[in-house]
Amino acid sequence: MDNQIIPFNKPFVVGKELFYIAQAVMNGGIAGDGQFTRLCQQWLESNLGCSKALLTHSCTAALEMAAILADIGPGDEVIMPSFTFVSTANAFVLRGAVPVFVDVRADTLNLDERLVEAAITEKTKAIVAVHYAGQPCDMDTLLQLCEKHGLMLIEDAAQAILAREKTRALGTIGHLGCLSFHETKNVISGEGGALLINDPKLIERAEVIWQKGTNRKAFSRGEVSKYTWVDVGSSFLPSELTAAFLYAQLEQGETINTHRRALYEAYYHSLSALQADGFVRLPRTEGGKPANAHIFYLLMRNNQERGELIEYLREKGIYAVFHYVPLHDSPAGLRFSRCVGDLPVTQEISACLVRLPLYSDMSIEQVGRVCAAIFQFFAGARQA
Ligand SMILES: *Cc1c(COP(=O)(O)O)cnc(C)c1O
Repeated sequence: MDNQIIPFNKPFVVGKELFYIAQAVMNGGIAGDGQFTRLCQQWLESNLGCSKALLTHSCTAALEMAAILADIGPGDEVIMPSFTFVSTANAFVLRGAVPVFVDVRADTLNLDERLVEAAITEKTKAIVAVHYAGQPCDMDTLLQLCEKHGLMLIEDAAQAILAREKTRALGTIGHLGCLSFHETKNVISGEGGALLINDPKLIERAEVIWQKGTNRKAFSRGEVSKYTWVDVGSSFLPSELTAAFLYAQLEQGETINTHRRALYEAYYHSLSALQADGFVRLPRTEGGKPANAHIFYLLMRNNQERGELIEYLREKGIYAVFHYVPLHDSPAGLRFSRCVGDLPVTQEISACLVRLPLYSDMSIEQVGRVCAAIFQFFAGARQA
């Protein structure tokens, strides 16, 4: 038992996934927009509280739809953090826009709302709020800024399924929200995502973009007599096989998150002693209570020590990883984007952050093993 490998992530089945897939096959049609797609969309609309949800084949696809819906075009600017996944920026670069990177807060690792207004120019069209680790951005401040300057607020809620900010579900607060069901997220379907449309004025066009630029949705509802090409669009919808798997996961979404929170809290309480001694910094969530416990990370004292810890754990069969390589000074970032200041917090955290294993069928005992190994790593230094 003791030398069993602890991977960083592990895909999992929680309920009726295979049963629903069989049902989808027996329903006769396994292309998109069938029974399970509708069940998932209704589930998201009622459990998160949004006007309309459309399943997509990834969060990347949902971000690309958001960029089209926000009417982003060549030369437009979109404000976002550099400490994020590439898709946050790529979706807008694909439309010819310039990502404008603003630094993140040292406590939440989310876009620093105090620096955003200074980054707004006449070309700014939208702000993208990435809820890192499922912890909410300061949405009230960002909403006010968007209202004042006439901008769209798009939430990259890829990591934030069923996480809330006060009473509002993340992804339902801005004009548009994007979710991911990639196998590394809390609720999964292999590849998968959803676009949440919170501004009802955008729903009709969203359905057209989703259906390859046609009015097929209106046609299937009997609202128009023929179906034809009416706007830009692409194939953004997933197959029913994906939707069937996803529906089984959504049904267990709260259960999944409850277990992840227990794992997170076990990490937090065990490793607090190392924080008290100044060896690591833990995520600054209220008393160790995370929103949806998507990520548990440590901030090490420097880049070298981070590398040493990852290596030390790997030798014990424990797989920890780091991310993100900041976008602003990556090869594509240098070509396509612009920076506001030199992003000192982004530089610091991307050099020092390490993510510990956290997945749905991980046990508290396994968390204990990871923590014991981390204490061993620091044992010499703590006695000195
Ligand atoms: C995972 C992730 C994405 C991409 O999600 P896909 O479903 O894999 O396309 C985008 N943004 C953030 C912040 C993510 O964590």
